[in-house]
Amino acid sequence: MASSQDLPKNYDFAEVEERWRSTWRDEDHYFDKNSKKPQFVIDTPPPYPTGNFHIGNALNWCYIDFFARYKRMKGFNVMFPQGWDCHGLPTEVKVEELNHITKNDVSREEFRRMCRELTEKNIGLMRITLRKMAFSTDWSNEYVTMQPKYYGKTQLSFLRMLASGYIYQSEHPVNYCTRCETAIAFAEVSYEDRETQLNYFDFNGVEIATTRPELLAACVAIAVHPNDERYRSLKGKTMKVPLFCHDVPVVLDEAVDPAFGSGAVMICTFGDKQDVHWWKQHNLSLRKAIDRQGRMTEIAGKYKGLNTTECRTAILADMKALDILKRQEKLAQRVGTCWRCKTPIEILSERQWFVKIKPAEIADAAHQIKWFPEHMLLRMENWVDQMEWDWCISRQRIFATPIPVWFCKKCGEMTVPEDKDLPVDPTQVKPKHPCKKCGSTEFSGEVDVLDTWMDSSISVLNVTGWDGSGTPPFFPAQIRPQGHDIIRTWAFYTILRSVALTGQKPWDEILVNGMVLGEDGFKMSKSRGNIIVPEEILVKYGADALRQWGAMGAATGSDIMFNWNDVVAASRFQTKMWNITKFALIQLEKEGFEPEAQITALADRWLLVRLSDTVEQVSNALEAYQFDVALKAIREFAWEVLADNYIELVKGRLYKDDNSRKGACLALHTAFDALCRLLAPFTPYFAEECYSHLSPGKSVHKQPWVAFTYDDDAARMEGNLLVQVVAEVRKYKHDAGLALNAPLGKVTIYAPHTVNDEGDTGRTLNADVHWRTDAAKLDRVITDIDFNRSVIGPTFRKQAQAFMAAIKAFSPEQQANPPKTIMLEGTETAIPENAFSPKYSYMEEGAKVDVITVGDVILTIAKSA
Ligand SMILES: [Zn+2]
Ligand SMILES: [Zn+2]
Repeated sequence: MASSQDLPKNYDFAEVEERWRSTWRDEDHYFDKNSKKPQFVIDTPPPYPTGNFHIGNALNWCYIDFFARYKRMKGFNVMFPQGWDCHGLPTEVKVEELNHITKNDVSREEFRRMCRELTEKNIGLMRITLRKMAFSTDWSNEYVTMQPKYYGKTQLSFLRMLASGYIYQSEHPVNYCTRCETAIAFAEVSYEDRETQLNYFDFNGVEIATTRPELLAACVAIAVHPNDERYRSLKGKTMKVPLFCHDVPVVLDEAVDPAFGSGAVMICTFGDKQDVHWWKQHNLSLRKAIDRQGRMTEIAGKYKGLNTTECRTAILADMKALDILKRQEKLAQRVGTCWRCKTPIEILSERQWFVKIKPAEIADAAHQIKWFPEHMLLRMENWVDQMEWDWCISRQRIFATPIPVWFCKKCGEMTVPEDKDLPVDPTQVKPKHPCKKCGSTEFSGEVDVLDTWMDSSISVLNVTGWDGSGTPPFFPAQIRPQGHDIIRTWAFYTILRSVALTGQKPWDEILVNGMVLGEDGFKMSKSRGNIIVPEEILVKYGADALRQWGAMGAATGSDIMFNWNDVVAASRFQTKMWNITKFALIQLEKEGFEPEAQITALADRWLLVRLSDTVEQVSNALEAYQFDVALKAIREFAWEVLADNYIELVKGRLYKDDNSRKGACLALHTAFDALCRLLAPFTPYFAEECYSHLSPGKSVHKQPWVAFTYDDDAARMEGNLLVQVVAEVRKYKHDAGLALNAPLGKVTIYAPHTVNDEGDTGRTLNADVHWRTDAAKLDRVITDIDFNRSVIGPTFRKQAQAFMAAIKAFSPEQQANPPKTIMLEGTETAIPENAFSPKYSYMEEGAKVDVITVGDVILTIAKSA
């Protein structure tokens, strides 16, 4: 044991955290591929390397580290890998900004190099925060999706799914962002409420209402309800599109609402999902009026080259001039927008690559996974249920995994690389063999690249050792921790890909965490100015305090509001624990402790049974990922049971120099050792620091999880009573204006059982304490009368003194049950209600005592003279 003289008075988190960070070794957290221990593989989320590990990440990683450390102590071979999901638009945009270029100003390869450079720098910054937070990352299993080693696997997974028919290319309407100039998936469309204008105009004699007049050039049909009598004459006819003069058929469809507007609607390619549906249903022609940059195409005639907003204005003006615009009204509308840049999405028909979505297969796998909290499974089910289109995985961008495919320039045949040649960039290299079909050696490489989710949705395959064939050696992973905001993307795609590539669920369990809201209760955003940066908390209060906030902030899965007070409270808890540590170490140092000492005193047994309860509670909570419940139980034990009650009770015994202190020392050592271990997953620096003083040279993080059990129901019950008795007597002292350590005289406690308190109660209360099991023999006597002068004064006036003297002269029986009247100076006078009340006292063995009851237990206090 280190000398308690070495312990600084105050806990200096900055010094301690820095010291342990430089002491701990990465190797201690490596997953051991040859281990015989049960595996616990975590499919850690790979964050986007923005350079800023934000508070939401911090919460997510706190959860991961809590159970990673817990599982290691429980004897599991834990893999807590760290990935980086690098590809994607935000980095491209940042590179353009920082270098004052657009992606078209440099070669694709040069642009990619710039993106890689920025990403590497950002990853470096984020690694520093991860280390400061004391996350027990397995750095030997770090992966970076932009590195050939990783994206080669993404390409391999693409080829496997292409071969098995999961992936296909097709010209199909897709969601498209004309600002980002790329197709996006449904999961990437966010919805916003906006106000728009509904325009009624004369369409060849029929009134049509539209919010998108700029799509008139793309009109391919007019639809009416089959039973709508108003349009009976139009059946089988064609109509001339105003301004553009092409003819379109009239189609009949049950889905048209006859009550909306005139009951006739315009079908364009494509205004919305309904248009796509009708277009397929009625086999209509395709008119592309908007190009990839959001400009009007050739078929828009004189409007060609305008953007959609300009075109709308121009068309409405022309309609007015022709007097076919009838009226306009305001309309509230939900608009699908690009989740990255908020530009309203267009639906464009393009040749794209798709992954087939098989909802039943995904739902089935999702049900085989255990969801924490359980209700998050519903979100997945709802998303699966509304799947209509396949997943569009091709993107028209640069910084992404290339699609490893070539097309023969002569015959169009598709060629793919061999596994061993991956990764490839088909725009940079040629296939190794001529075209299988025509023998040509002229190829064009696919320029489209893959959706970033194609990289990240194989994270679990990557960490479990997938090499393209069969089930990976460490598959499935035990757990996927992630936020609820990416259930429909990352969780969904991962399940889809695992089923497609291995036929199995990706993980045994999924743990979903909530979002972190600002102190004002709103989502953190620059514009609100409510962003809290982990680094700021680390500097002010340290990693352990931040980690405690993460555990205590909310139930797992719930959104959590950031609150500085919680961080301050966490830091206070450490101060309190540090004081306990110093006290315990000083006591244990005096004589050490004897593992074989007898535990007989009630307080010691009570401490151990409460410790046993706490260990069980904390372990159960951690098994169920209820970190708030676990840490709350630890704090209560440390603060209330150990510091406020136990230590107060046994202080006197510990200062003695006889055998009775041995039991207390052993109990104290047992509790303190267990507390360090219980705290290890939550406050790794603090727990290590405390433990290092208790067991020098040993790390708490290499100790097994606490297995302490102590079965003693009587101790729990009687000990709880004991601390209550002490609390009540202390309150009595306080109310009587006595100092807490003032001598009190004799205290007799009439309890149902014999209690061996080793004199703890007496020393704590500074009183002569006797525990007795017989019934208290107390006489209740009237020792004084309380007169109510506000009643007596006005009623008796000059006779008040005489009245009071008469009452005092009553026998105790009369005082307790007074008559209705009294003779005062010869007159029978009524005794008013509430004029007086007798004051009772208790007499025990002839001496006056004060009495306190605690449940069924009676305490008598005979104050010293
Ligand atoms: Zn966009
Ligand atoms: Zn060919």
